[in-house]
Amino acid sequence: MINEPDAGSEAKEMGNKVAGFLKSRQPEVCRLCKSPATRVFDLPLYSIEGDWITPVYRCRGCKTYMRDFDYSSPQMIKHFTLSTYTNLSNEKRLRHEKLDYFHFIANKAQTAGNKENDKNALDVGSCFGHLLDIFKSRNFQTFGVEPFEPLYREAIRRKNHSMFRDICGLPDSLKFDVITMLDTLYLIEDPLSLLVNLRKRIKPNGVLIIRIVNRVWILDTLRYLRFPVSSNVFGDHKYSFSLNGMRLLLKAAGFKTVSITGKEPGKLISDPKRRLLAQIFSLFSNLPGVNLAPGLILFCAPNPDNRI
Ligand SMILES: [Zn+2]
Repeated sequence: MINEPDAGSEAKEMGNKVAGFLKSRQPEVCRLCKSPATRVFDLPLYSIEGDWITPVYRCRGCKTYMRDFDYSSPQMIKHFTLSTYTNLSNEKRLRHEKLDYFHFIANKAQTAGNKENDKNALDVGSCFGHLLDIFKSRNFQTFGVEPFEPLYREAIRRKNHSMFRDICGLPDSLKFDVITMLDTLYLIEDPLSLLVNLRKRIKPNGVLIIRIVNRVWILDTLRYLRFPVSSNVFGDHKYSFSLNGMRLLLKAAGFKTVSITGKEPGKLISDPKRRLLAQIFSLFSNLPGVNLAPGLILFCAPNPDNRI
């Protein structure tokens, strides 16, 4: 077991206290592949109450990292209230940064489903509804799932998308040509249950598009070099999925992975340091067998042999 050099016993004690308080499960067994997981470091998760110290585990099988904190807990609202991506004053900037990128995603999705004009799209974790705006401009019926109340209201106010706070609120009869989930799955407490639910809601020729961050190699390298892992690297995520872990998860939920790309054209990054790093890693992602891209987009289809 490798601990962060600055993760003292006091922090670990506090982490145990917080985890116990929230009745979070200790993920000693990986939820994705059932292999044993090892506690590797502790990280703060910010909230309006101050930082919570949370233990992070690494699966010895699929190499996915997971934070021991209950993301389905009502406590999480105290975190999301402070997140930059939920701040309404950032709406215009975030829209500008991702407009061309969302067109790229919509172009990829456009060929899925039926060939008629009555296509629909569901965006899970739809935030301000910017991706749904693009689908709507292309005559899709648009549906969003956004549990954070101010964003949920904003998506309705701006473009009158059909919004739901929870995936379970969607009518069972509604099936989708396109389901997108960009930078959402790693914030979900139980990603397998969510994917199983989506499997029931996708049309036989529909497409599921998932974007995750690609940081396992950074986390592994930092730990190998015995450098501290900070929240800047791990983010506020519940999971840092490995590609192997994602494949297992999708297979278990009844999806097949059709293609994976590390290229995300059109995405602008305001912060100069993050932009430079993203450019360097994107260059490396062109090498065969090497994938150091900042994020991965997985294009998936329902597996007809695996009906949940
Ligand atoms: Zn695993």
